[in-house]
Amino acid sequence: MNVIFLGPPGCGKGTQAKRIEQMRGLVQLSTGDMLRLEITEETELGNQVKEVMNAGQLVSDDIIVKLISKRIDEPNCQNGFILDGFPRTLGQADALSIMLSDKGLEISHVIEFAVDDEAMISRITGRLTCDSCGTGYHDEYRKPQKEGVCDVCGGTEFSRRPDDNEETVRARLVAYHEQTAPIIAYYDDKSVLRSVNGMADIDQVTAELNEVIG
Ligand code: ADP
Ligand code: ADP
Ligand code: ZN
Repeated sequence: MNVIFLGPPGCGKGTQAKRIEQMRGLVQLSTGDMLRLEITEETELGNQVKEVMNAGQLVSDDIIVKLISKRIDEPNCQNGFILDGFPRTLGQADALSIMLSDKGLEISHVIEFAVDDEAMISRITGRLTCDSCGTGYHDEYRKPQKEGVCDVCGGTEFSRRPDDNEETVRARLVAYHEQTAPIIAYYDDKSVLRSVNGMADIDQVTAELNEVIG
């Protein structure tokens, strides 16, 4: 089964993708994580996208489509994948549709996380991630059980993303509404669109997702 998680920055795509990955054996494919890895490794692609990402704007469709197509071909995607943060434009949605039909694959569900924009500001500005295992936390909404220690791996180093500040989040929300939100209607027309309440608490959202995925 292949699914798409759709929603603005902070709606919970990454948090839920990691949980569903564990529970259902689907692989999380986060284009944001792939791009951040390119930046950390200082590749040519990383250098090319860094400024655009730090400004809260979208990277070109061309770059993203190549990145994801290569990743879907890897063997661990054969049991199914969760697209987290892709597609983000109508051009990407069209390219995905062609790419999947070429590969003999299809999307089972497109799940929209319904949230209030204003609440996404505090979600994003309070977000931190364990450096060792990538588990996501929040200063207020998702604290580790023991302060400063990752629940999953015991790591004690955490990072914040350079684009997780209020100014950039506002730019990302504008980009979301202008360029990404139109794909909701695109998938609704194809009758694969479902919605979950992304304002519920983290466990409740996971339960709702499991129900939708079936
Ligand atoms: P996205 O991948 O959609 O940008 P994340 O999953 O990284 O969003 O979540 C953004 C921040 O909000 C994280 O710090 C996360 O711990 C927190 N968070 C995620 N889901 C919820 C929720 N349902 N309620 C409260 N906080 C949440
Ligand atoms: P979030 O889940 O918090 O919105 P992501 O990690 O998905 O953040 O994306 C971070 C940044 O990476 C985006 O603001 C954008 O610059 C770039 N990016 C990620 N995925 C895409 C995509 N599918 N198309 C264009 N740019 C992307
Ligand atoms: Zn950890």
